Amino acid sequence: MSLKVYIDGEYYDKENAKVSVYDHGLLYGDGVFEGIRAYGGTVWRFDEHINRLYESAQAIALAIPLSRDEFKAVILRTLEINGLQDAYIRPVVTRGVGYLGLDPARVFNPSVIVIADQISLFPEEHYEQGLHLVTVSTVRNHPMALSPRVKSCNYLNNILAKVEAKNAGALEALMLNVDGQVSECTGENIFIVRDGALFTPPLSAGILEGVTRGVVFEIAAEKGVPCTETSLFRHDLYNADECFMCGTAVEICPVSKLDGRAIGTGLPGPVTKAFRARFQEMTRE
Ligand code: PMP
Repeated sequence: MSLKVYIDGEYYDKENAKVSVYDHGLLYGDGVFEGIRAYGGTVWRFDEHINRLYESAQAIALAIPLSRDEFKAVILRTLEINGLQDAYIRPVVTRGVGYLGLDPARVFNPSVIVIADQISLFPEEHYEQGLHLVTVSTVRNHPMALSPRVKSCNYLNNILAKVEAKNAGALEALMLNVDGQVSECTGENIFIVRDGALFTPPLSAGILEGVTRGVVFEIAAEKGVPCTETSLFRHDLYNADECFMCGTAVEICPVSKLDGRAIGTGLPGPVTKAFRARFQEMTRE
């Protein structure tokens, strides 16, 4: 049976789930989205993701035509109709169908899409051995241009970084901001461990405020591991004891090499492993 996709109040088979070529989400990347997961039938950090979706929409002056509760009900219904317990959920809200000009004031009905499917980014071996990152020359969006806090349908900044990483033989990119500080990866936030403490770039480094990043803060508090948001440079990552990325799709993924330098022992370290184990326990609870 084919997956059913929600578009503006109706469900369509995956292969017939289509939008207009006049949709400004397609024409201009004018829209916002989320990436959410369900574990065992429960939507993980539901409110945090919904709130970020509405904040992204507010930031681009896009009025979502559903209340937060209505949106959550659509997501739950989409899981139910597809009989999914474990899923990756992709809500998208676009400016809607309009004309061939930029002005959003001339586009009247935002479109709401909800896809519930599966996602797998990195093969399992990278969780055991650690993933290799390369620093790319594509600078993370300047917050004074398109704020990285907006999860917008225009992900070209991150896609260009991904292309660079792949060309350099790595699966994932480390992106710096315009001041040369570490920001994040193309779809993950980044942490290092040094002398038993965690460090991660602050929002002011120009990053998405990751939901998983927030969960890492919670695990750190629970375990009594100090965790500081501070500017980081590549030097800090090269000389860290451990490094990991985190995000909805990858969960907590160890990083063992950056730009050809082994980080710590060059294998996933004990703090990363403990945080990953705790994260899995929490999502499966
Ligand atoms: N940074 C970027 C650029 C992302 O796209 C994502 C994925 N949403 C993340 C970080 C991680 O955020 P989260 O933990 O909310 O998935």
